[in-house]
Amino acid sequence: MSIESKIHELREELRRHNYNYYVLDKPEIDDYTFDQKLKELQRLEEAHPEYYDASSPTLRVGGEITKNFETVRHEYRMYSLDNSYSQEDLEDWEKRIKKLIDGKVEYVCELKYDGASISLTYEEGKLVRAVTRGDGVQGDDVTNNVKTIRSIPLQLKGDYPEKFDIRGEIILPLAGFAAMNAARVEAGEEPYSNPRNTASGSLKLQDSAEVSNRPLDCLLYSIKGENLKFKTQYEGLEKARSWGFKVPEVAQVTASTAETLKFLEYWDEHRHDLPYETDGVVIKVNDLQQQEELGYTAKAPRWAMAYKFKTEQAETLLEKITYQVGRTGAITPVANLTPVQLAGTIVKRASLHNADQIAKLDVREGDRVYVEKGGEIIPKIVGVDFEKRDPQSEPTVYITNCPECDTPLVREEGEAQHYCPNEMGCPPQIIGRIQHFISRKAMDIEGLGGETVALLVNAGLIQNYADLYELKKEQILPLERMAEKSADNLIKGIEASKAVPFERVLFALGIRYVGETVARKLAKEFKTIDALVEAGEERLVGVDEIGGRIAESVVGFFAEALNQELINRLKTYGLQLELDASVLENQTEKLKGLTFVISGVFEKISRSDLKKTIEDNGGKAAGSISSKTNYLVAGDNMGPSKREKAEKLGVTIISEDEFLAMV
Ligand code: AMP
Ligand code: ZN
Repeated sequence: MSIESKIHELREELRRHNYNYYVLDKPEIDDYTFDQKLKELQRLEEAHPEYYDASSPTLRVGGEITKNFETVRHEYRMYSLDNSYSQEDLEDWEKRIKKLIDGKVEYVCELKYDGASISLTYEEGKLVRAVTRGDGVQGDDVTNNVKTIRSIPLQLKGDYPEKFDIRGEIILPLAGFAAMNAARVEAGEEPYSNPRNTASGSLKLQDSAEVSNRPLDCLLYSIKGENLKFKTQYEGLEKARSWGFKVPEVAQVTASTAETLKFLEYWDEHRHDLPYETDGVVIKVNDLQQQEELGYTAKAPRWAMAYKFKTEQAETLLEKITYQVGRTGAITPVANLTPVQLAGTIVKRASLHNADQIAKLDVREGDRVYVEKGGEIIPKIVGVDFEKRDPQSEPTVYITNCPECDTPLVREEGEAQHYCPNEMGCPPQIIGRIQHFISRKAMDIEGLGGETVALLVNAGLIQNYADLYELKKEQILPLERMAEKSADNLIKGIEASKAVPFERVLFALGIRYVGETVARKLAKEFKTIDALVEAGEERLVGVDEIGGRIAESVVGFFAEALNQELINRLKTYGLQLELDASVLENQTEKLKGLTFVISGVFEKISRSDLKKTIEDNGGKAAGSISSKTNYLVAGDNMGPSKREKAEKLGVTIISEDEFLAMV
């Protein structure tokens, strides 16, 4: 088989597996086999850039950077929806329709997905553009980011129209959202407040590789175009599904408002069983001809109506406010409630976030409180029933000392959270830091779990993560539930962690605000721990995407004598505190301060290698041309609009050979 057919075949196969996994949720092969095939395709594509395809499954991993999102005008305006809240509202709407339309009217009921709206443009079966709703007339071009969302087909199948727009909602399913937040809490960062804002924020990230790591999904609900071969909204949904889009199956045709109400009732009750959030139902006139007759008001179609569910609330007794101490010393007040049924689960605890929140709600122990469940991991208190308050009750006084170690708490300017500053002596901080150090995304120490860490600390065997490397088998054997074999495994796991690469060690150290991504950036920029220790705030802030808050935290961490000692010890034990030499060898500063845009197909070097070469030599690879671009590296088949834009902005256009000569 020729290389070209092999590449085509692999792309086809990977597309099918992607579809099975992300759209149908029915994988046919395991993740490992999928990764192997993807790697093989990547290898072939890199060796044969002449077969470049903007719809290749290899592009799902992202890498394109967008500095400024271009404004794009929607070919078909993106309208808002009118809202209804009751049966009467819906009956009024039906009456208005009946006045304008003769004959029978059917409706389609769909769930209203709660995310960020998106308009996708397909030409000849390929995704060419993804634009946010913006003001409805024009939005932002977020194509690079949207391409990383696995359930959005880059290449369609079946009898799709030559050109059309399809609308949908980009959402963050609840499980993925919870996992993202767990990772943030782990890194000492504030969790995101809800899935909807996080989904829409994700679309505007500059680095598409970061978007690719977020478990985003896209549910589609409307097709716009000329000469479409279907006559109803419902058929349109079925068509879209057949072309490879993810279209939820729950949509239902109804003949009247009476029937629609049954759908509403059912989903009001069952919406909490869905893997994502909905805030209501959208009811649409099914017949497209009738839709056209009804037309639009200034803001919304007359043929569609949103019905909003009431947010579920429960009232219960706030028995006691307790305070939790996190790994970074952050204090979180928690409301302990008389258990109450809410949105399908029993709620016993709710977050009170911080002292300001308690003051704002004026919430007190013994109050009857209203609890709501949004996308958050734990529910929140939204108000107090003041009429039921005991007249003797006193305002809540926030604790002044750590509930675990009694150290006076501090609260820095501009921070909402109180902290226990006793980093080295506060038990949950000591244990939490070591648990973070050994966690999967950090040192990933096999044979050692969070509970064992607590046992080791409480037995006085370790006080910090460096102590792990001095543990002896004889010391741990007497511990509860520790057998010969598990002790061996633990020691082996600790030994093996010495090979974990620098960026993960840096993350494992548990510096506040240094999550996985920041750790990777810092490792790449400074290359050794010594260089990072030496770097002052100014130098740190100079690094892309490192702000003052992170810089201050990094400098503060290394300024602590105790942390210096820990790091020196980790060095002696042989942990990786520098980037791997093979990575370093190819790096220079030759392109420092220069921004490049790559366009077209290249002969001698693949696009991804080209990009890597730019970055390894200190340059920046941007996704689109702007006044900040220094060079446009032009390959074959570069679009004329890019050349035009580069010429207009005075960007130097160079060939692949000229680029290679620079490095
Ligand atoms: P609103 O933003 O409250 O005016 O509601 C309109 C938005 O609801 C649209 O822009 C869509 O993004 C979103 N939406 C969610 N699900 C659907 C659906 N099934 N049909 C139409 N719009 C939907
Ligand atoms: Zn404490």
